[in-house]
Formats: sequence, structure tokens, C-alpha cells
Amino acid sequence: MNRGADRYEFASDNTASICPEAWDALQKANADKAASSYGDDRWTAQVRQLVREMFEIDCEVFLVFNGTAANALALAQLCQPFHSVICHEHAHIETDECGAPEFFSGAKLLLTRGANGKIDIGEAEAAIVRQPELHSPKPRAISITQATELGTIYTINEIRALNEFARKRSLFIHMDGARFANAVASLGCAPKALTWEIGVDVLCFGGTKNGIGAGELVIFFKKELAREFDYRVKQAGQLASKMRFLAAPWVGLLTDAVWLHNAEHANRASRQLAERLRSEAKIDIVFPVEANAIFLRMSEQLVRGLHGRGWDFYKFIEPEVYRLMCSWSVTEADIADFVGDIVALKRNEEAKH
Ligand SMILES: *Cc1c(COP(=O)(O)O)cnc(C)c1O
Repeated sequence: MNRGADRYEFASDNTASICPEAWDALQKANADKAASSYGDDRWTAQVRQLVREMFEIDCEVFLVFNGTAANALALAQLCQPFHSVICHEHAHIETDECGAPEFFSGAKLLLTRGANGKIDIGEAEAAIVRQPELHSPKPRAISITQATELGTIYTINEIRALNEFARKRSLFIHMDGARFANAVASLGCAPKALTWEIGVDVLCFGGTKNGIGAGELVIFFKKELAREFDYRVKQAGQLASKMRFLAAPWVGLLTDAVWLHNAEHANRASRQLAERLRSEAKIDIVFPVEANAIFLRMSEQLVRGLHGRGWDFYKFIEPEVYRLMCSWSVTEADIADFVGDIVALKRNEEAKH
């Protein structure tokens, strides 16, 4: 957090406001003078129906308040306390959820490496082999983030290979899809082609970073895996009594593929920002820009200058890799302002030398 920051456009995709379609749906839901509670309302029913249409399968759909809960409860559903979950060392479930997945599931996270934020199968295999059978938690699931924490995308073939590996080892596949929409937009494929068709068992589908205020979906593609999940959600304090107000914005996103348009916009903005940073400011972009995140190398001095001009953003990897994110609401003017400030700061810096 920077004192005096007033430009949050690129700090994260959760700094954006609620998109008009979601806002409109929320208002419509509020026009119902009274409705059934705890998800027994027409808005929640409609979300479930729209998700089934989107994924072209009869799946089980649950709404929780945020992504941490979605991941933690989904993994708890798949694992016993003597199990482990294979994930990337940069996985959100490892670095940003305060241990919630381990707390709720009792299972241990088994960290692996891999270039560009993606699990390398050889590394995963080695991590399993290093664990003496019976004396270590039994690998039960593999968790992949799509799009990844480093703004890259698993291709369909890469997930297919992970699925082969998972099936051989009887592992479930969990997908942290806080930015699933950005992945679909980037690959231009059907949502099913990126999930159940290639072995994904449960998807945590994020809406917050796509354009709503709160509420994430937990989707079980094999209905039997969702057994008693409703109780788990309630026990964890994640069952909204006025669920229609979590559901309605989702109806806004899922109608007329607003989720996809929002993600396409964010991805396009990121590509544009990255290209301009490279060409106009000679900035070094660290990972391939495949979704809506840009990782860039900047000197401390340049960062201080940007903060001084009000820009808020985070350092991600020591010593000098920072992250910029684009959301559905980033405009060309925002991009021009940021690039303009960087170019000006670099010019001042050079003039001093
Ligand atoms: C934002 C995010 C989440 C969810 O975070 P919450 O703050 O709990 O909603 C999960 N996974 C990834 C990769 C994220 O970026």
C-alpha cells in the first residue's frame, strides 16, 4: 500500500468496480420484494442453469463468498487429512490463502516447480517419488491455476498431459480458475474443452476479478463428487442466506457471454500495455503475457517515481519483478497515462546521468 496512491487501475483486477451488466442484474434482483433464502431462489437456479449451458454438461454448482473459500472447500471435498495436493510453488493456495486449503482439508500441499508458473510433470513425478510411501501423505489431487499466478496459460495439450499423469496416479484434478475467463478468452476454446473434457474434476470459477463484487462458483463436473458439499459450505460459514445477491451478478456475467467479453477486454489491454512498455519505455517483460497480467523488471528508483505519481502496484518476485494487472474496466487513457509516466521518469533519470 502506498501513501497517497490514487491510481489503482493496474494494482490488481480486483480493484475494478462492478461491471454494468452485473450491477443491472443486482438491481433487478433487488426489485423482488421478497424471495426464498439460502439459494432456494430463482436467481441461484438461473446461475446453475447458465453454468450447465456454458459447460455443456449437467454439473453441480455452488456459490461461496470468495476464492479462498472455493479452493479450500473444493480441496477438502477431495481429500482426507492423510492426503496431499500437488501444486506449483507459486500457487495461490500455497502463497495467498493463509493455509486455508490445508486447514479445511487437513491435507498437505506438495510443492513443485515448473517454468512460467506451470507445473512440470517431471518435477511433480520427482516430488512424489521423494515421498516414502505410507510414511508421507498420499497424493490425492493435483491443483492447477488457470490462468496461472504468473499470467500464463496452460494449453489444452498441457492439461491433457497432466490428466494422463493424474489418472495413472489416481489423482483428482482441481482447477483454481480465479481467472478462468481470461484463459478461455486467450485460448478461444469452449469452456468444456479446457475442463471436464480433459479431466478437470472440480473448477473454482472466479467472478470477482472478472467484474462482479463478490461470489465465486465451485463446479463439480462429476456430480457424485459433490456429495454433502452443501453441508461443508454451510459449516465453513460460506452459505449466503440472501444468496440471490451473490447469484444475480453472476446471471449478469453469464448472460450473453459478458464474462468472456470482460476477459477479452482485460487480455487485450494487457497485451497493449505490455507492447507499449516494451517499445516506448524499453521495459523488460519477464513472463509471456498470455492473460491479463504483466510482470516487469523495474529499478527501485523507477518504482519510487511511479508510486510518487500515485500508481499502486505490487512487487511479486525479489529483487525487482513487479506485477501489473488489467481488468474489464481499464481504458486506453489509463494505459497511455501509465506509459507516459514511465517514459517521462526514465527520461528524467537519463538526463541526470
Ligand atoms: C484472487 C485469487 C484467488 C481468490 O482470492 P480471494 O481473495 O480469496 O477471493 C484464488 N486464486 C488465484 C490465483 C487468485 O488470483
